[in-house]
Amino acid sequence: MTQRTLAIIKPDAIGKGVAGQIIARVENAGFKILAAKMIHMSQAEAAGFYAVHRARPFFQSLCDFMTQGPCLPMVLEGENAIQRWRELMGATDPVKAAAGTIRKDFASSIEANAVHGSDSPETAGVEISYFFSSLELCPR
Ligand code: ADP
Ligand code: MG
Repeated sequence: MTQRTLAIIKPDAIGKGVAGQIIARVENAGFKILAAKMIHMSQAEAAGFYAVHRARPFFQSLCDFMTQGPCLPMVLEGENAIQRWRELMGATDPVKAAAGTIRKDFASSIEANAVHGSDSPETAGVEISYFFSSLELCPR
């Protein structure tokens, strides 16, 4: 089933200058990049995006991290895209991430972990429309 997912290259990865390497992995895995843009989120924008985590002890630190510099949200399309992108990212904690995954190779910590990916079709729909209007999604 062709799906869309919301990916973000997070501020740590942009700051390290590895966005290009991450995009190359996206392309090599066969995803279509339907939309992409560089943004610098405000606290309110980061808090809105991660609202599901607002009761977690790491929430404020996560919002500070996501607003420390620009990030690069992208809409990826492909067969089984939601699960395949999460597999390419690797586990949330880079210590636990499998060899060859993006987080294993580029994440610094469980918080500064290089990339985001939607975790379900429902979440993907909400997250894509958080960053992109329908007019910004290139027709294919
Ligand atoms: P994932 O991004 O793998 O879906 P979660 O949805 O559980 O992970 O968490 C969202 C983000 O919050 C993570 O990607 C990471 O940046 C941060 N995070 C998760 N767990 C922790 C933690 N224990 N301490 C600090 N930051 C965390
Ligand atoms: Mg998540």
